[in-house]
Amino acid sequence: MSMDKMRAWKLLEEMSYVRVAGSPEDLKTAELLKAECDKAGVPAVIEDFEIDVVDIAAATLEVLESEYHAYPVIGIGKTASTSDEGVIGGFKYIEDAYDANLSDIEGKIVLLQGRMTPEVTEKLKKKGALGYVSIGGNLYEDESIKNELRPANAFGPDHPIPGLRIHISEAEALVRSKPTKVKLVLKNETKKVKSYNVIATLEGTDLKDEVLVFSAHCDSVPYSKGSWDNATGSVSIMELMYYFKEKGSRRTIKFLWAGAEEIGLVGSRKYCEAHKDELDSYIFNINFDMTGVTIGYEMCCCSTSEDTLHAIEYMAKISGYPLKTELGTYSSDSSSFAGAGVPACSFARLAPRGGAEIHNHNDVMDRLDPDSFMITINFVSKLAEGIVNAPVNPIPRKLADSVVEKLEKGKKMMMAAEEAKKKEVEEAEKAKEAAEEPKEAASEEAK
Ligand SMILES: [Zn+2]
Repeated sequence: MSMDKMRAWKLLEEMSYVRVAGSPEDLKTAELLKAECDKAGVPAVIEDFEIDVVDIAAATLEVLESEYHAYPVIGIGKTASTSDEGVIGGFKYIEDAYDANLSDIEGKIVLLQGRMTPEVTEKLKKKGALGYVSIGGNLYEDESIKNELRPANAFGPDHPIPGLRIHISEAEALVRSKPTKVKLVLKNETKKVKSYNVIATLEGTDLKDEVLVFSAHCDSVPYSKGSWDNATGSVSIMELMYYFKEKGSRRTIKFLWAGAEEIGLVGSRKYCEAHKDELDSYIFNINFDMTGVTIGYEMCCCSTSEDTLHAIEYMAKISGYPLKTELGTYSSDSSSFAGAGVPACSFARLAPRGGAEIHNHNDVMDRLDPDSFMITINFVSKLAEGIVNAPVNPIPRKLADSVVEKLEKGKKMMMAAEEAKKKEVEEAEKAKEAAEEPKEAASEEAK
């Protein structure tokens, strides 16, 4: 029986509910997956870890002059809070935050598009911006989706100025209204809650000290049932578990359902930290993020050496499997393994422009079908079977220079921002101490 598309389909339907990291549904999902492993006769464990979740008490954006208007916005977590009165200043639309656009933003609230990296917010802070409003959404999405801007935490370490997010259609109106005085309020707290990884192990026979790890994230984003992103990946590795449970393997195979991927690959990173000592024995990570879409194409992003990329291309060709390949880093859990030095890849069945959507309420079963779902795992089961039973490890423990560069760039950006943040905290403490000293002296005198 091995892999079974209707069993997979049933689990996909069961998993199709909003599963945001840190919510009660997050734990429910971990328990559901563990129960499924038990049913398959493969022992699984749930490992919890801490995550930061957004708790926004207030987030408003009002144009005070020349004509009053309140715009619908959401707050961005892990950005600086304002007082109840908020911050009031001028306004400037700074597009992509190129230097030429930052020349006169002191005392202003700025509107901008693109990714809010720690580098960008540091730049804004240095130039004296009071706060930022970043643009999200799509001009052409229907009304029901316009209200689904996702609450999220700032990327990387805490941002030094308050941040809001506005829908692009509202941003258009905002720019055209030429505001001269704007008020921004953000009351924002970070709460620590638990999220979960589920891990199942199929022990190998004579080469059990070498491990292949399959992974897929099992969380979704607010408003999204995440049928495609990424119940499909979760179910893919479940079917591979059934497959290898029946076939057996010389090497050990681990299955990781990673939590909290959508808030920054947190589950897989925590897994790599917690299992640091074992990672030397991990020869390869095969990750799945989004498969099963009817109108789609197969893709594999390899964070490996060129050799492994070419080997996968060769396998795909001799199997008649149409695969678009790429050497690089994928914004999914494979990057956590590659970052920890384990060669990794991500398989996906992606949609063309105008096709299926993710990260909103349209990500449901309607765009998927059982036969398209099987395409990816039919190939990967064969690819993995070759690897786990090979007499010698066929995956060089090596990442191409271009992959290393991309991983390093990400790491450096985070570290630089963390340094800047640390310095700021130290300076604030020094300033506080300096302010307290005269007070102490004064109270001594009073005695
Ligand atoms: Zn995903």
